[in-house]
Amino acid sequence: MCGIVGYVGSKDSIPVLLRGLKRLEYRGYDSAGVAVLHENNLHFIKKAGKVSSLQSFIDDTTIKGNLGIAHTRWATHGEPNDINAHPHIDHTEKIALVHNGIIENYDSIKQALIKRGVPFTSNTDSEVLVQLISELYYNNNEKISFEDAVRAALQEVIGAYGIVVICKDEPNKLIAARMGSPLVLGIGEGEFLIASDASPIIEYTRNVIYLDDNELVTIDDGHYSISKIDSKNIVNKTLTKIDLTIEEIEKGEFPHFMLKEIHDQQHSISDTMRGRFNLEDGTTQLGGISDYFSNILSASRIYITACGTSWHAGLIGKHLIEEYARVPVHVEYASEFRYRNVIIDSDTILIAISQSGETADTLAAIRKTKKLGAITLGICNVVGSTISRETHAGIFTHTGPEIGVASTKAFTAQLTILIMLALKLGRKKNVSKNRGKKLIRALRDIDQDVVSILKNSDEVKKVAKNTWKANNFLYLGRGVNFPIALEGALKLKEISYIHAEGYPAAEMKHGPIALIDENMPVVFIAPQDDSFSKVLANIEEVKARNGIIITITDKKNNLLESLSDYILTIPNTHKHVFPITCSIILQMLAYELAICRGCEIDQPRNLAKSVTVE
Ligand code: GLU
Repeated sequence: MCGIVGYVGSKDSIPVLLRGLKRLEYRGYDSAGVAVLHENNLHFIKKAGKVSSLQSFIDDTTIKGNLGIAHTRWATHGEPNDINAHPHIDHTEKIALVHNGIIENYDSIKQALIKRGVPFTSNTDSEVLVQLISELYYNNNEKISFEDAVRAALQEVIGAYGIVVICKDEPNKLIAARMGSPLVLGIGEGEFLIASDASPIIEYTRNVIYLDDNELVTIDDGHYSISKIDSKNIVNKTLTKIDLTIEEIEKGEFPHFMLKEIHDQQHSISDTMRGRFNLEDGTTQLGGISDYFSNILSASRIYITACGTSWHAGLIGKHLIEEYARVPVHVEYASEFRYRNVIIDSDTILIAISQSGETADTLAAIRKTKKLGAITLGICNVVGSTISRETHAGIFTHTGPEIGVASTKAFTAQLTILIMLALKLGRKKNVSKNRGKKLIRALRDIDQDVVSILKNSDEVKKVAKNTWKANNFLYLGRGVNFPIALEGALKLKEISYIHAEGYPAAEMKHGPIALIDENMPVVFIAPQDDSFSKVLANIEEVKARNGIIITITDKKNNLLESLSDYILTIPNTHKHVFPITCSIILQMLAYELAICRGCEIDQPRNLAKSVTVE
């Protein structure tokens, strides 16, 4: 949440910062702002609304400068208006700061500063940092450097931050620091960038350094140095070369990132599996976890922790790992896990799932588990992300960047990894080679299945055109498809603002059935597997109450056709691959419903991707 970017170099920073903000806008779009230093002056503009609106204000000015900072906000404290927008400026109007995170003790610091006569203008937590730095720098009996003022201020705050700060009295200096919120330093030819992720950087350089918690970088006159915030000790960091391309972070001919990413699934699932199959032996190869594989194999229990869509992937992971590997798996929201007295010992394995690898609660759950002495594994999409660096080992999903706020291709890739993991464990236990081969063959054919599902878009559009006015939707599935019902409902809520619930189909009788009438569309996930006849009975129950039945199946039959108002047929596949293909048609349905309702697809209200605050 919140995207921050800073630039210092020979170019005018404004276009670089604005382009960077556009790339980071998936992280928040409540307000945007820039501050630059030019000819000993600090200029800033900040506006509620999206980066495009900020841009139109900037176009009417002559503001420029070779050193600047910028921010796109997802508000946590204070409503999204011009005043609360970042950068925040200290009361002397000499220092500007952008912040991603939450300063938990902001109120006590604010009250103390107010007592000292410091005037505040915003309702944010972030403003205390810039006022505190200013106080320590300009109103201190002892003269300290700007960098030391930043350090001292950071040691007073409790909470999470990624900050970049500039000062007109030190006009060649850009200081950034991190505790809990991600920051990447880009090192170019005579220029430096610092940003919440690498996307604003790759146009200028591929050489980056990922900052860790408690690190501060000072860029001064063409040189950078990284040190610990609290001890000033210099840290020697390794330079990473990133291979992200510009095409991967642009939406090309698609009207929305979400649609592009739905279509990317034609190859992103196989990209995730590439080089990881061993068909001959009916198993998979997961190099990233090989050092810990025997620990996983002998684990007495596995916890899977995640948030949102990744948590749904975790529920399917439980089903698969218990089925193939016969180890008890507990799936927990990371926000609950981190504060609960969970039962963890050295025989426990924690699997943390996060697309961005930066999810604050998931990261906290990992840190807690490590302290308790257990092994942690990450399933992440972003190489270099904090979770991928802090877990003992992990498996990357390799889908390329996911920018649409509603997760699509990252989810199907997470499911793919979990299937491969379950199978690998299972093959070391009692799962036969033949059973493994069957699963692998189905996975291998998935590209064709996805292509044929994407061809169904006219059918999906038809369903959406006839149901978009509904205020509520129910999604029902059984077994491994129950979490897919949850995920289908979540996708719909996120982008169309239709209230939707997912339930195990048989649970309907225990409450939700009371909601069913002729205005309630009910999406049934009804593959022709061992639960088919049971789901059919549930469909009959909804039919008897005049609900609108939308069935997703891999094999039509007459009864199903006569009961359903709409049937979306997807290719027949292995029962454990079906959740992947089924979720794609549900993503398409959510997308088309949101289009019919005229919603913002890639930037749904109140949401942001990569939840880096608690
Ligand atoms: N807490 C800050 C604000 O509300 C930053 C929010 C964030 O990083 O998400 O402005």
